Amino acid sequence: MTGSSVEQVYIDVAFVRIQRYLARTSRLRGRRSASAGMAEATDSAVIAARLPQGLAAANGEAGQADGIVSLKLVDPRPEGRQQRVRKVISAVLAELREEFPAAELQAVWGVGESYVSAYAHEIGPRTRRGDVEHVWYDLPSLPEFPAARLCPLCGMDPATEKARLPEAPEVPELVCADCAHRLRRGARAAARVGESRKKSAEQRLQELLEVDEAPDALENLAPLGAGDLKRNHLATVYIDGNAVGLFFKRLLAAAATKPALHDTKRELSRRLSELTEWSLLCATSQVLETMGPERSARLPVVPHVVGGDDVLVSVPASYAWAFVVEYLKTFDAEMRDSLVGPVNLDHGLDLPVPSASAGLVFARHGQPMYLLVDLAEERLRAAKRRTGGAASSVAFLDLTTEGPQGVDDSPLPLSVLGQDATLDALDRLHRLPRSLRTRLAQAMRDHDDTVSAEGLARRSGEFRAIEPFLPGRDGRPPRSGITLRHALRLVTWWRPLGPKARSRL
Ligand SMILES: [Zn+2]
Repeated sequence: MTGSSVEQVYIDVAFVRIQRYLARTSRLRGRRSASAGMAEATDSAVIAARLPQGLAAANGEAGQADGIVSLKLVDPRPEGRQQRVRKVISAVLAELREEFPAAELQAVWGVGESYVSAYAHEIGPRTRRGDVEHVWYDLPSLPEFPAARLCPLCGMDPATEKARLPEAPEVPELVCADCAHRLRRGARAAARVGESRKKSAEQRLQELLEVDEAPDALENLAPLGAGDLKRNHLATVYIDGNAVGLFFKRLLAAAATKPALHDTKRELSRRLSELTEWSLLCATSQVLETMGPERSARLPVVPHVVGGDDVLVSVPASYAWAFVVEYLKTFDAEMRDSLVGPVNLDHGLDLPVPSASAGLVFARHGQPMYLLVDLAEERLRAAKRRTGGAASSVAFLDLTTEGPQGVDDSPLPLSVLGQDATLDALDRLHRLPRSLRTRLAQAMRDHDDTVSAEGLARRSGEFRAIEPFLPGRDGRPPRSGITLRHALRLVTWWRPLGPKARSRL
């Protein structure tokens, strides 16, 4: 079994809609331990080591992602392959089910001479099609009896097990099976502080930025927001890559005729995960910089999920734009200049450069987390539709003034939002007295055109602040590319960004 043409067998076991699963409890402490516990409990090497007869090993070609166990059959030969795959999948599903009673799990397998190839041709398409031959679903069992009482932590499942809450360990509380496991994992993780173990994205951020750990509850994260804005609002930010699948498909097609690209594609799938973490680090550092003299001693961003090209965070509302603009700029620039650009140049290729898009939801803290995650995901989809997934874009919803369906402002491409001139114009609009901004917004709601808002701005001697957002001559779009109504919504939670956020488009 030597030579590069040996077909390997890859098996991925993953949480379906992991964000929603992690968001079951709105208590950060519970979600943190779920997230750290998930990183540990889905460590592919640990799971592989426990498999019967050493049937599979960790798949070293897959990038790190929370909530995905990626394995490779030790013996990939076609004889008896199917049975070996089945044995591995049942063992892994049984183990994860025990540890995560309420999770939706999915296992997929595929064959290829590399993981990238197996993923592009078999695992990816099979997952999308839901091909029953190769995809296994494992759903949480439904309660046998109607719930006498719902779990006080998640409010979703019957309270059937006793567990001790960290804040009141004296008297055990009745919670659901899933929350009970979360609490136990949290306690185990706390007991092992100092021991070497897999660090969560949050711990890595905290160490690299040399700040104290993030607050334990979302209501304590909100007050880290800027002083002149209400300090009880948070943004839920959902970011993920555009056209990453297409990129790998094209790379793979190119590799078929250029063997030199084989190492490149392995390298790139690993570096994509690294780029996600790097962008998260730069964006969080930008938040600290934007805080200026109000700079927090604690980590001001709570990452709930970080994996592959996917990021879900909570951040004080007033720093969400600093986070998003920096994240998208970093991701796009690095993707173009460090990852894809050099490959195109070295191999004479014209591969499309993936980018990232973001969905944001601003809301008072205390809203159910699963609702915020769903709405942020909806905004993310809307943003992606705007550019057809071909370029970076952003869409947002302000639940404090808008219904959950939002308003019909078109999502913003980063090529508009990220321009220095746009950032300057938004800074200037934000500096207007809040009362004037409120009256301008009112004028925009009451009238179909900008005439009365223009009059208002002129009378206040502030025409220049709104000028970039007024329609151009002959119905042309505003100079900034953003309408006045949209810009006024946007600056509600705006803070002037630090100098690092400039240019690099
Ligand atoms: Zn529960």
